[in-house]
Amino acid sequence: MAQTTELNTSVAQEVTSALTGMEHGGHEQVVHFYDRATGLKAIVAIHNTHLGPALGGTRMWTYKTEAEALTDVLRLSRGMTYKAAITGLNLGGGKAVIIGDARHQKSEALLRRFGKFVDGLAGRYITAEDVNIGTRDIEYIAMETKHVTGLPEILGGGGDPSPVTAYGVYLGMKASTKEVFGNDSLNGKKVAVQGVGKVGQHLVAHLVKEGAKVWINDINQDNINSVLAQSAGVNVVDGDQLFDLDMDIYAPCALGASVNTESLSRLKCSIIAGAANNQLAEEDVHGQMVKEKGILYAPDFLINAGGLINVSIELEGYNRERAYAKTEHIYDAACHVFGIARNENIPTIEAAKRLAEKRIDAVGRIKLSF
Ligand code: NAD
Repeated sequence: MAQTTELNTSVAQEVTSALTGMEHGGHEQVVHFYDRATGLKAIVAIHNTHLGPALGGTRMWTYKTEAEALTDVLRLSRGMTYKAAITGLNLGGGKAVIIGDARHQKSEALLRRFGKFVDGLAGRYITAEDVNIGTRDIEYIAMETKHVTGLPEILGGGGDPSPVTAYGVYLGMKASTKEVFGNDSLNGKKVAVQGVGKVGQHLVAHLVKEGAKVWINDINQDNINSVLAQSAGVNVVDGDQLFDLDMDIYAPCALGASVNTESLSRLKCSIIAGAANNQLAEEDVHGQMVKEKGILYAPDFLINAGGLINVSIELEGYNRERAYAKTEHIYDAACHVFGIARNENIPTIEAAKRLAEKRIDAVGRIKLSF
């Protein structure tokens, strides 16, 4: 009995601290959903809808606790607000997480139940793919709601947004290279990519094509094998030894928070530019730490916006050329952010957030006026 009380107290503390995060993050709405029949446990966080409906993907992950899932969805949805705003989209920020093991618990019934749940939010939240949720899953979700993007091309959608995301990350990396080395060529640059899933694999292909020297690492051997089968000359590095490599660019393309006090004590690179959301474990602390170490950080929500651009174009009627053309703006947007950070001597994440907040404030005001 004493043990149960202790456990409940610690869970309550975790949930309380995640909810405090909600308060600090300024979220508009957080909805929990549970369905006994399918085992679905999901949370949708709507961070901000000043610029439009909150759009963001659904992630399925084996979170150890509900508090951990809540913290993740709060952080991710906030990042989506910044991403949409800085990219010039008329969308707000939201995100969903499904708690569970995608390999064993994902089913048609669970995904359709989730679709019904999203439908109940009446368009305030629009979903899409994220980690462990692919286009096939989106098809099931779309059977129950129209508030969904990332549909296969055959169904009028843009398909998997990952290639477009990877293209934007590649351009953001080139802009970073220009800022640090004076020209944007990646030829001969040493790049370490953590996570070679849907985005990482496409990114590696761009890097290899441009003559970069690439190291990869992943916890999934199948994904490593798939890169090795496609791209010659890629090196594999075990575990977190990746952080000890002598490299020019670290590209986080797995999950968030890989840029933290521990990894920064080891990282020897000039640039951090990758696809993962929420790369900095603590934005304020590690944004500043990266700057002090003389590393240029390409803000994640700025350079990984290609996927969001791709799904946003689906809402207007999908056009691939338009998606890629809009994604090309990431290069100039990154140069702009680096210029502000340099001139004002502030961390790049701070410069990017200021630009995003300025647009939310200015345009959000217009939307409220008559
Ligand atoms: P994915 O699940 O296809 O790939 C992630 C890869 O990272 C997997 O291969 C996984 O095994 C690996 N991984 C997980 N933990 C790891 C660790 N500790 N060390 C090494 N490898 C690890 O996901 P994705 O769609 O490629 O997305 C990658 C990241 O980019 C995610 O953070 C996602 O939120 C973000 N992102 C993706 C898109 C998109 O269009 N897919 C858009 C914007 C942001």
